[in-house]
Amino acid sequence: KEPTDINALADEYLRLAYHGLRAKDKSFNSTMETDFDDTIGKINIVPQDMGRVILNLITNAFYAVNEKKEDDENFKPIVSVSTKKNDDHITIRVSDNGNGIPKEVLDKIFQPFFTTKPTGEGTGLGLSMSYDIVTKGHGGKLMVETTENKGTTFIIELPNTTDN
Ligand code: ADP
Ligand code: MG
Repeated sequence: KEPTDINALADEYLRLAYHGLRAKDKSFNSTMETDFDDTIGKINIVPQDMGRVILNLITNAFYAVNEKKEDDENFKPIVSVSTKKNDDHITIRVSDNGNGIPKEVLDKIFQPFFTTKPTGEGTGLGLSMSYDIVTKGHGGKLMVETTENKGTTFIIELPNTTDN
């Protein structure tokens, strides 16, 4: 673990994911919103691992809004990333205004190899890997809030391991 600027990391991966998707599909488009708490300072994390978690959540979010856009061309996709410092933990939220996760799917999303995506588009490993990195690797929590037809928010809570 090393002291890392989580805001810079999240911002970098948000742009990386967006430009990666646009390179593959020129019609891909989404509003990106960020709300970074600049009082966080640096926190002790494994930057490559946490970067991978954030990238996974953001890629899933873009996928969700893109799916909805395919059904409704007037739909305005929004993916938001925010950070917040609390007394003893840091919260990172990744939200989308896609179709949400149906109840029968929600129970399984953290299982390895579970995917609802067509072959070649998903391995089903992103969330199970993310869960392990956040919980076992960093002593944090990974949670999800979702409303059908409204969207989904993944919430990462990390212990605040700095002297800020
Ligand atoms: P993959 O992206 O390869 O399918 P993940 O482990 O990242 O694997 O996600 C597992 C499943 O969880 C997805 O196939 C999808 O059904 C659901 N899911 C994850 N994130 C979202 C999201 N933001 N909106 C809707 N469904 C989601
Ligand atoms: Mg994924």
